[in-house]
Amino acid sequence: MPKIIVHKDQCKGCELCNSACPQKILGMSKDFNTKGYFYAAVLDQPRCIGCRLCAINCPDVAIEVGVHGTQYNFFPY
Ligand code: SF4
Ligand code: SF4
Repeated sequence: MPKIIVHKDQCKGCELCNSACPQKILGMSKDFNTKGYFYAAVLDQPRCIGCRLCAINCPDVAIEVGVHGTQYNFFPY
């Protein structure tokens, strides 16, 4: 099963990932990150199809997607 990791402190709350997800399984947290933004959150992980559109559309490289043992968009800061 694909796994989504949101690096919450890199997120600026733009919601582009929410719009990009064809499964509409992303939303926004009710908490602030260290920058003071509501950050992206995965609401229904089992329905993820591993398309990576969330990660591709994130301007801040805040989303990492693991598909079949490969990590995409993994840039350690
Ligand atoms: S990988 Fe695709 S289906 Fe999964 S959360 Fe990202 S955009 Fe949605
Ligand atoms: S696209 Fe990136 S910066 Fe924008 S809300 Fe999603 S994770 Fe955060």
